[in-house]
Amino acid sequence: MKNQAQIRYNPLNGRSIIFAPKRAKRPNDLKNKTKESSCPFCSANVKKTNILQQWPSSGKWQSAAIKNIYPALSNKNKNAYGYQEIIIDSGHHYENFLELNLKQISSLLKLFQLRNQALSKDKKIKYILTFKNQGRAAGASLRHIHSQIFASSILPPEIIEERNRTARYQAENKVCPYCLLINNEQKSQRLVWQDSKMIAICPFASEFPYEVWIISKRHVDNISLLNNKELKSLAQALKLIAKKLKSLEYDFNFFAHNDIDNQHQHFYIKIQPRPNIWAGIELGSGLIINPVMPEEAATYYRK
Ligand SMILES: [Zn+2]
Ligand SMILES: [Zn+2]
Repeated sequence: MKNQAQIRYNPLNGRSIIFAPKRAKRPNDLKNKTKESSCPFCSANVKKTNILQQWPSSGKWQSAAIKNIYPALSNKNKNAYGYQEIIIDSGHHYENFLELNLKQISSLLKLFQLRNQALSKDKKIKYILTFKNQGRAAGASLRHIHSQIFASSILPPEIIEERNRTARYQAENKVCPYCLLINNEQKSQRLVWQDSKMIAICPFASEFPYEVWIISKRHVDNISLLNNKELKSLAQALKLIAKKLKSLEYDFNFFAHNDIDNQHQHFYIKIQPRPNIWAGIELGSGLIINPVMPEEAATYYRK
């Protein structure tokens, strides 16, 4: 019991903390150069029996989902219930997501979709986060590019807050706030890119320098429900943003939420570069200082 993970709730601020003592032993290869022969995510070193799902679904894989062997959550632990998986973006040894081509990004997105579909079949799961930590400043601990899936039986407070706010807005104004946002931003200086399926914008109140959101134009709430044309469009947007991010040389995270029981949402991916470390003001007060205006960031992406 001593080493078993558990979730504790702080009633003063409504936050939940996951205690996961075993995770302190996670490997970290960022300090040394990784040899491909010993890299755990290079295709030659990934055992077939460890693969939960792969894309393409048969033959040689481009992207593969494996179990996270240092999970905080597990489906065997009722005190911290959930699943954690690693998605190996590509079996080839890349160390930066920004090196992937369009086909490789598409393969990764397809696998994100398949894992979201598979995990949401467990009725205890209320929330799935699909995310990437690229680089040390973004929290990565292994060099070979990989993403992660975190599926939990609890809904994070920020997601509850977003759900409540958008529901309230919709009830009061009889319009979907995401549809409204898309409509407004199409004509704004914060527009990065769009086609008929997706729109990429630097949000009005960006939290990070050069932050971008890619939002589905269709009123569809998570990645499981995107059709192939939408996935293709999403891959194009990601590739375009990746190209520009590469010149900035920032580490970054991206996130896609899946609030299982909430259909009144639009799917979106948030891409958040990490050029500066959050310090006293951000950590202490929750107020965020962002040195780059989103209008300026969008101009950079559009160039
Ligand atoms: Zn590797
Ligand atoms: Zn909508």
